[in-house]
Amino acid sequence: MPEGDTVYNTARVLERAIVGEVLTKSDFRVPQLATTDLSGWTVAESASRGKHLLLRLQNGDKKYTLHSHLRMEGAWRAYRPGERWTARPVHLIRVALHTRKAVAVGYHLHEVALYPTADESSLDHLGPDLLGADWDADEAARRIAAQPDLTIAEALLDQRNLAGVGNLYKAETLFLRGVWPWRPVRDVDDLTGMVTLAQKLVANNKGRWTQTTTGSLRRGETSYVYGRKAQPCRRCGTAIRKAELGERVTYWCPYCQPEPGSGGA
Ligand SMILES: [Zn+2]
Repeated sequence: MPEGDTVYNTARVLERAIVGEVLTKSDFRVPQLATTDLSGWTVAESASRGKHLLLRLQNGDKKYTLHSHLRMEGAWRAYRPGERWTARPVHLIRVALHTRKAVAVGYHLHEVALYPTADESSLDHLGPDLLGADWDADEAARRIAAQPDLTIAEALLDQRNLAGVGNLYKAETLFLRGVWPWRPVRDVDDLTGMVTLAQKLVANNKGRWTQTTTGSLRRGETSYVYGRKAQPCRRCGTAIRKAELGERVTYWCPYCQPEPGSGGA
């Protein structure tokens, strides 16, 4: 699923494929942009902000941003001209950007929008970007601390606190810090240390598509708790548990991440 590193990597793929190129044709399959024609525009930049992907376009003095959000199932792929678009079913295509060098195809994208690049400030509500040049652990910790009653698991997923953590990195960070996912923010020690670890886990996967938090890239060894329901904890052997928390599911080890007062570790 798309986490901050996935979106970052996608931005790099688009950078290599179409940045610096002139669009020869654009094909939008979303109602709000159905009549938009971007041919003649130059793709100036490909960037990510948290889970948002920003393609910055230029035409003379005009600068616009083509915005998309991958959510759970979205993806961009680059094809050579004439190559068949086989990554996903055709009905999932939301946009195709043609250049002489490559065609960038966006599948199952959300929040597809085109607006003046100056209006990117509408993303300022996002917390510090884990993979941004302006990453600021203290600021992210300060934002989390501002909602002391929220569970730490939900606080880590709130993109207004820090941008780029999804369900995988949330679960893994909490395991590595030994924190029960339902613990209220006010009872969590060292929030700065927590978000610093989350940032390291995401940053370690920059530039590759296999997401690992354990250091192993082997199938079945890439996470401590995420996706490992009922399997033995890699540290203590206790069966990993899975449950709903807020609008998402979470995974945890009941021994390594004890519920306060439960008599665990
Ligand atoms: Zn354990």
